[in-house]
Order: sequence, then structure tokens, then C-alpha cells
Amino acid sequence: MSEVLRLTGVEKTYNRGKPNALEVLSGADFALSAGEVVALVAPSGAGKSTLLHIAGLLDTADAGEVAINGVNFAGASDAKRTTARRETIGFVYQFHHLLPEFSAIENVMLPQFANAVPDREARSHALELMSTVGVDHRADNRPAALSGGEQQRVAFCRALANKPRILLADEPTGNLDPGTSDTVFEALMGLVRDTGMAALIATHNPELAARMDRIVRLESGRLLPA
Ligand code: ADP
Repeated sequence: MSEVLRLTGVEKTYNRGKPNALEVLSGADFALSAGEVVALVAPSGAGKSTLLHIAGLLDTADAGEVAINGVNFAGASDAKRTTARRETIGFVYQFHHLLPEFSAIENVMLPQFANAVPDREARSHALELMSTVGVDHRADNRPAALSGGEQQRVAFCRALANKPRILLADEPTGNLDPGTSDTVFEALMGLVRDTGMAALIATHNPELAARMDRIVRLESGRLLPA
């Protein structure tokens, strides 16, 4: 299987050189192959978000390498990082962050416009994704009219709209009640499996973690097999 993401010796300290310095990552190593779905498990505050932001080129490491499809992004310009992020990576957060003034389907179409996909094509692709996770009937509603589970399903569709090879998800169902969390997680897994993308999904729910291909633990700033 081809490798889509590799972290090598990643280090990150917040407030470096100050009395309140906090070392969060201290030599984290990790590799993700195409089609693989991996659970990232650790208690709150251990550094999961920090790791996902660095892996997703949203933040930079103090030391170490982040390679995406074999290309090392350590020291890359903001422009290169932004392009790689837009073309390769989908991000899902605990809270949906949908744009409130646009309809659900428009939220899924917008990222496609950034990649110059024509309107009609963007709309039909958005509807296709939304029907996979059962929210196509809510397409013309604004996010505020949707339930928490529906909002998060739309956020998944938006993250996948540009067919990223890598999905990074930070507690994607952490905001939902347990029953909803379960079905919404299944919807996300269905999308991921359908598209064959690789995913790294942070969760502190052991049952959800057990449904993924592999579990890694973030402990003392390093990634260890569970
Ligand atoms: P998790 O996602 O596992 O809850 P985070 O990566 O959010 O962990 O945070 C790890 C630690 O780093 C926490 O103690 C958090 O308070 C701290 N932290 C996160 N972001 C910053 C920041 N920008 N500046 C200072 N400390 C931060």
C-alpha cells in the first residue's frame, strides 16, 4: 500500500523559552497508508489536536518532518502548504463550522469552487455525497435548521468535497449524544470506505476506536501502537 502521510520525529513546544513552556510532541513518528483508517487515542490535553494540525499543514512543528505523498513539507512556504492542504487533505472538527448564511448544499459546493469545479458539477457531486450520509433532503436548509447530527454529516461532505486522499478528524462525533454519535460515525466510515481515502481520527471513545483498522496512542508526546 502506498504511504500518504508520514511524520518523523515531530516536536512541538508551546511558549518555547518561556517559564510556562509546554512540550506537547517530543519525537512523534507515524505513517498512514492509502485506504487505512487509524484511531488516534489519548486523554484530553495530550496533544491530539496539535498533532492533527501539524499533520494537516495547519500548524508547523519545531522539529521533524511531515511528508505528504512522499513530499516533505518541513520549511515549505505558506503558499505550498496551502495548495497541498487544499488538494490533498480534508479536515473535520468536533464542531461543524459550517457557514451559517449558506445552505447545506452550498457549504459542500464552496470548496469545490476554490478548485474551479463548475457549478452544475459541484452541485451534483455535493448531492451525491449528501445522499450517501442521508442528508440530501436537507440540502436547501441553512445549518441552523439542521440537527447536530445532520450538521456534522454536512461537515463531513464538505471535508470530502474535493476528494482528498487524507482525512484528518478531531473528535468528529464528540459533540453529539451517544446514539447520534454512533450513526454519524458509521456515516463517516461509509464515506471514507467508499472513497478509499486514508483517515486519522482522534477519539476518546474506545468503541469507535475499535471499529477502525488500527489504534495509535499519543503518550508523553510520542505515538505508540495501542
Ligand atoms: P488534545 O487535542 O489532546 O485535547 P491539544 O493538542 O489541544 O490536546 O493540547 C495539548 C496541550 O497544549 C494542552 O495542554 C493545551 O492547553 C496546550 N495548547 C494547545 N494549543 C496551545 C497554544 N496555542 N498555546 C499554548 N498552549 C496550547
